[in-house]
Amino acid sequence: MPITSEQFAAPEASSGDGPINLIGMNRAELTATLETLDEPRFRADQLFKWIYGRGATEFDQMTNLSKTLRAKLADRYVVARPQISQDLASKDGTHKWLLRLDDGNEVECVHIPESDRGTLCVSSQVGCTLNCRFCHTGTQRLVRNLGPAEIVGQIMLARDHLGEWPTVERPSIYERELSNIVMMGMGEPLYNFENVSAALKIVMDDAGIAISRRRITLSTAGVVPLIERCGAELGVNLAVSLHAVRDDLRDEIVPINRKYPIAELLAACRDYPGVRNSRRITFEYVMLRDVNDTDADARELVRLIAGIPSKVNLIPFNPWPGAPYDRSTDERIEAFAEIVRSAGYPSPVRTPRGEDIMAACGQLKSESERPRRSVAG
Ligand code: SAH
Repeated sequence: MPITSEQFAAPEASSGDGPINLIGMNRAELTATLETLDEPRFRADQLFKWIYGRGATEFDQMTNLSKTLRAKLADRYVVARPQISQDLASKDGTHKWLLRLDDGNEVECVHIPESDRGTLCVSSQVGCTLNCRFCHTGTQRLVRNLGPAEIVGQIMLARDHLGEWPTVERPSIYERELSNIVMMGMGEPLYNFENVSAALKIVMDDAGIAISRRRITLSTAGVVPLIERCGAELGVNLAVSLHAVRDDLRDEIVPINRKYPIAELLAACRDYPGVRNSRRITFEYVMLRDVNDTDADARELVRLIAGIPSKVNLIPFNPWPGAPYDRSTDERIEAFAEIVRSAGYPSPVRTPRGEDIMAACGQLKSESERPRRSVAG
């Protein structure tokens, strides 16, 4: 089913009389906006390039637009990123930004520099509804979905911060600090698919931010009915938070399994559009001591994924206050990895990054909570 722009408008629409943010609008929406100002359609391409290709924040920077148009735009519109309310740097170079959204809610966004790439871990929701037992975000009740502007805004803000917008003098930057995106921050991206999809289409556009789908990975706990569409519509890499090889255990630690059990999830992975040996599915597997980390678990994992072009990313459990689990020992993790590797699947162990600032996988949480409904009301 084609998606209409109206479906994206709801969470974004600024209900008050305040200025409207152009970030989050795609070409069609920019075109429609310009038409209301009696401007020709081709101006939308120029505007798109200024906003997403150059990172312009002021209309006066947009020198190929007439002064009259710039004034008309400045009158009613803004090009606004989320505000940074806290900026934490880890000793390992990882950076965590706590972002304040227009309605006061907060989400986190993490930049992880590595020798051959720089990855931005982007949030899709304020909080999360999944309640995975080992995940800190899961202890925060969902407040709401992020809109396209708030998702694209995270990437634009990181680019501002890293000083990586191409300029006329430096039109292309190859050695980027922000080369890859993982939709692995707060929230379940497939429970906010319309907005995540709108945002990623903007991010992948060659005239704008231009990060290729090959450098974008979307991670899901297993929203089976949307997996096919994610591949067909976006073509990004898929990561699946598997974490257990038996339904009884997965029901407990990744409760969405009660709705979409392992067999259905793996069938969707097998059919993921574009999957092949050079574009593997990543299975994420958190290593919880004495819970899911035996040799037998590893052998069962290998049996389950047989025939799916995959790699298995082992994530040593990252603790948080009150967490009911411990991290598996290094020896256990290595023994587990060895079984998976000897069956022919790459099985990297994810080095925890930014642990000292609570920026590692599963440690993200903001203070935003849904206000309690009044019982009397
Ligand atoms: N909701 C999506 C996106 C979150 S990605 C998903 O579940 O895939 C974040 C990854 O970190 C997921 O694989 C998640 O299961 C994992 N994770 C959560 N808590 C963790 C923790 N405490 N230690 C290590 N990994 C964790």
